[in-house]
Amino acid sequence: MYLKELTINGFKSFAKKSELKFTAPITSIVGPNGSGKSNIAESFRFVLGEQSVKSMRGKKGEDLIWGGSEKVSRGNRASVQVIFDNKNRALALDFDEVKIERTVHRDGQNEYKLNDSTVRLKDVHELLANANIGSTGHHIISQGEADRVLAAGPKERREMIEDALGLKVYQLKKHESERKLEKTKENISQVESLRREAAPHLRYMKKQVEKAERSLEVQKELKLKYAEYLKREDTYVAFHFDRLTQERVAPTAQLTEVKKKLEEVKTILAKTEEVEESADLKSAEATLAEATKVRQVAEKAHSGIEGQISFLERRISAAVNKPAETDGFIKRSALEKLVSGIESETTLLKDDDVSVLKNTLDELVKKLRAFLNEGKVEQVDTTEADKKELSELQSELEKATVALEKARHDESRVQEKLAALQTEQQAESNKNREAERDMFALINEQRELELKVKNIDSELAVLNRDRDDFKQQLQEAVTLLGQSATDYFTYEVRDEAGQSVDEDQIVSEDRSKQKNRQFELEKLKIRLEELGVGATEDLVKEYEEAKARDEFLAKELSDLEESVENLKKLIVEMDEKLHSQFSAGVERITKEFHSFFTLMFGGGSAALKQVEIKVRSDDEEEEKAVQTGVELEVSLPNKRVKGLEMLSGGERALTSIALIFAMSQVNPPPFIILDETDAALDEANSRRYGDMIEALAKKSQLVLITHNRETMSRAGVLYGITMGGDGVSKTLSVQFEEAAAVAK
Ligand code: ATP
Repeated sequence: MYLKELTINGFKSFAKKSELKFTAPITSIVGPNGSGKSNIAESFRFVLGEQSVKSMRGKKGEDLIWGGSEKVSRGNRASVQVIFDNKNRALALDFDEVKIERTVHRDGQNEYKLNDSTVRLKDVHELLANANIGSTGHHIISQGEADRVLAAGPKERREMIEDALGLKVYQLKKHESERKLEKTKENISQVESLRREAAPHLRYMKKQVEKAERSLEVQKELKLKYAEYLKREDTYVAFHFDRLTQERVAPTAQLTEVKKKLEEVKTILAKTEEVEESADLKSAEATLAEATKVRQVAEKAHSGIEGQISFLERRISAAVNKPAETDGFIKRSALEKLVSGIESETTLLKDDDVSVLKNTLDELVKKLRAFLNEGKVEQVDTTEADKKELSELQSELEKATVALEKARHDESRVQEKLAALQTEQQAESNKNREAERDMFALINEQRELELKVKNIDSELAVLNRDRDDFKQQLQEAVTLLGQSATDYFTYEVRDEAGQSVDEDQIVSEDRSKQKNRQFELEKLKIRLEELGVGATEDLVKEYEEAKARDEFLAKELSDLEESVENLKKLIVEMDEKLHSQFSAGVERITKEFHSFFTLMFGGGSAALKQVEIKVRSDDEEEEKAVQTGVELEVSLPNKRVKGLEMLSGGERALTSIALIFAMSQVNPPPFIILDETDAALDEANSRRYGDMIEALAKKSQLVLITHNRETMSRAGVLYGITMGGDGVSKTLSVQFEEAAAVAK
């Protein structure tokens, strides 16, 4: 890689387009004071991405643009373009030629182009840093700037050396990593804080969702248990309701029939009772008693008459055959007549007729009194009277006999009627007993039937309660599980072994099992109530999103932590690399420095020395002893004094040149621009300087701005810069003689 060409257009005093071709290892630029030579060195800085306007002797970007003169008006933009040969691909672009162009506008805006493509400043920096053309510009030594390397402090000097050693890339990478590390740590704390903030809500939602999931499980279980319970219950209730309703039909009808029959029997019995107490029978009995009484009276009258007739007949007969009678004695015949009269009357007596007996006895007493009285008065013959009376009595007897016969007939008739009535009564009575038997049988049957119906009814009542329970359960199921709970009928009931259970098995199952199922349902309902019906879909969605976000953050956190570790590792690696390469570089530069120094001064010694420097961090009060700085140790030959402060102007110039050259030797940049570095040298030192330049030119292309003849003499190409009355710098190729003339 080498510098091929520089084109300046509108930059500072180069109002017009000027081209410089660098076809030799050493190019010298010569010209009078103020002609614009240093502007060329600055144009290099500019095109390579220098951001400090001050280092290009300006205050603001505008100062870099042709400001105009009396003859030439000012420009609106400054543009510098540099072309490198890149056949060796020192620049990491796959082109044989690399053109870098920078333009600054009056509004301060900058444009960068790489091979005519617009790029960022960063891209230009990266490209150049990799080719050891650092942005600190250690390869561009401006006028009076050679001394900077001596005047700088240990820290700044260290940076210059790092740049010269090409370690800037690592520094950049290290700083980039540190910046990334900080950013990553910030991100970590942000992510942690986000997670911390979201954690309580996430925990809360997790609990809710878990609860909801448990609730869903319980609902699922409840649905199955409900389906089985309802299916079984419905089947059971419907079946037994039909069965009992059917079973009730026959006994109910029978009961109606039995009741009807019973009514009939009761009617019969009621009628019989009426007959029993009938007036007919009572009147028949009263009639009979009357007739009997009449007959008895008739008999009594008849027998009374017969007795009187018999008495009269015996008295008449006695009167006829009158025996001697003793006063006061009763004749035997009279006594016999009396006895036979009493006998006839007593024969009429019935065993149980007390009243009749009493009457008869009364009559007897009367007769006996009359007999006794008769005996006393019957002193006279009464036969004729007796006969008359007898005759009368006999006619009376006839009448009495007729009356008696009639009375007997009447009584017999009444007796017959009564007997008929009694027979009828008996028949009724028999019928009644039969009816009573029937009644008792029917009552028994009724009782049995009623019991049967009652039992069925009580079973039905239980069943009705079960049916009410079933309805209530169904309603509760719908409330808890929704309308789908009514689909229970499609549920296939299975036993514990998983076998399908048919209707017969369901309806004949022990009821306690169904009660247990109901109990299980109640338990599940309580659990469901405790858990609540569950989270809404929105909550689940929200939780899923929050969880996904948290997982994402957790993943991000772990990625960030991994990045932190990687970055820390990278920083350590960079530090190690920087440290080792820096130490090695310092050693090599020391060697070169000593060699250039002794060459320049014909002896003495020069070295770089690493020192620890304490720096204050920006935000902390405490001091930190972390950085390494570089000090210079020089001693001139034949002189006792040591230290940079003691050097003369020329000696300082030589020392700084020696150091710059040493730095360039260790890690040669593709080109070096030296702006009047040789200004302070006397003739002898100018020659030595010239020798060193030639040595240097073997490793780096050199562009030397100079007034020094010796230096000019070493150049392969010479450019003269002139400035006319218009204030515009111009370039022209010149020969050594011309250049030497200008230099003078
Ligand atoms: P010396 O030999 O004395 O170091 P030089 O050849 O290096 O001189 P420069 O310092 O490059 O000269 O050029 C300075 C000249 O450039 C000045 O005359 C200055 O007026 C001119 N100049 C600087 N900036 C601008 C600008 N923006 N517009 C026009 N002219 C400018």
